[in-house]
Amino acid sequence: MKLSNFNLIVPLGEKRILFNTLSGHCVEIEEEVADIISSNKIDLLPPQLVRDFVNLGIIVEESYNETAVIKYYHDKEKYSSNMLLSTVLLTWGCNLKCVYCFEGSDHNFHNMNFTEANKYIKFLKKQAIENRYSHISICLFGGEPLLNFDMAKYILDEVRDFCEKKDLTYSCFVITNGTLLSDEVLEVLLYHHCNMIQVTLDGIKETHDSRRMYKNAQGSFDDIIANLKMLNARKNDVHSVIRVNIDKTNLAETYALLKYIGKNGMNLTNCTVDFGIVRGSTESCAAYSGHCLVEEEIGEVLYDLWSAAEAEGFKYNIRPMRKWLYCGLYSDNQFTVTPDCEVYKCWEHAGQKEHLMGTIDEDGNLVNIQYTFYEWMSHDPLAIKECRNCVYLPVCGGGCGVISYNKEKNYHVPGCFKVKGVVEKQLLKYFEDSLR
Ligand code: SF4
Ligand code: SF4
Repeated sequence: MKLSNFNLIVPLGEKRILFNTLSGHCVEIEEEVADIISSNKIDLLPPQLVRDFVNLGIIVEESYNETAVIKYYHDKEKYSSNMLLSTVLLTWGCNLKCVYCFEGSDHNFHNMNFTEANKYIKFLKKQAIENRYSHISICLFGGEPLLNFDMAKYILDEVRDFCEKKDLTYSCFVITNGTLLSDEVLEVLLYHHCNMIQVTLDGIKETHDSRRMYKNAQGSFDDIIANLKMLNARKNDVHSVIRVNIDKTNLAETYALLKYIGKNGMNLTNCTVDFGIVRGSTESCAAYSGHCLVEEEIGEVLYDLWSAAEAEGFKYNIRPMRKWLYCGLYSDNQFTVTPDCEVYKCWEHAGQKEHLMGTIDEDGNLVNIQYTFYEWMSHDPLAIKECRNCVYLPVCGGGCGVISYNKEKNYHVPGCFKVKGVVEKQLLKYFEDSLR
């Protein structure tokens, strides 16, 4: 018998939490047991505890190859989905001018037109048929996707017809700045099985308006709150997510924002608050990076924010989850398509030619496939020394490709983000909540 390579020990007052990131089991243990595990002296453990630990995957057979388990599930998730998930940037344009926007302003605000939409629709159909997907999920994104809502309707109508004929299901979700939502827009989205609308707020009015303003410098806060209230009134029909982008300049204000939205009745079970960490990671926002939180601070910051959000009535399921891929965009079934039908993996890379994966031709084929595509798809955390030996690997999946590339112009290096230090805080929160 030997100890698993994936035992993480986290202090909890005088006790310790022992979390096996591979099996997903966590237990509370005494400090002396933690010391025995840390010093790898398995023989000092009482026999009953050894038996319990075997059941929990904390102790495994000598011959058990844990990396083979990870490899299997990693590859399975990468190549065996039955769902096509495509993000479509309906426009490069936006009606806001946010201080940190990664999409910058050098894309001449091109909107997807009918010719491009038809190529995209054919691409979706071909992908669905060739890969025998049973579900198509479309993420409407931009720019601000609702600026080109007619094209969204056209695409969704066509996908609906196709799915009905082929006996597939489909759904959509929207990532929007929230300013252009209306009852009419919502009705169309719900008709097309919209299951989530994500809207961004960056603070209470003054702060939000100084970060997310219209082109004429007017703030967007009041419009977004009015539209969130409209979504809230339809809480039985759609799940809304309030995304709060955090950096050093708005962290303190975020607590006031949580109070505000809680007081305004948005703390209902069908509305969640998601805390995004602003990263000055791409060229267009690199100048902003001095305001971003550093990796070591994120766990502490999130822990406090989760607690504050819960105090306002928002619900969380904080327990760390296994993740065979850090991000779905590492899998074969997910793409991001720009208004001019360029295909990328991650939307943070959209428009950056060094990350172009290919283009869509008139017949909906993915053509002009770049070497970058194979580089991205061959990402294997078990081939990266730091990841292979990392206790977090089963709850991380090997990190974000954008972070990796920004570090070393290479997808095959660790892309640690929101994992180290965050998992520990998730465990603490989970235990504290379960003791209540
Ligand atoms: S990306 Fe970082 S946290 Fe994730 S497995 Fe690799 S080294 Fe560990
Ligand atoms: S930024 Fe990283 S984690 Fe986010 S979608 Fe892109 S690759 Fe995935």
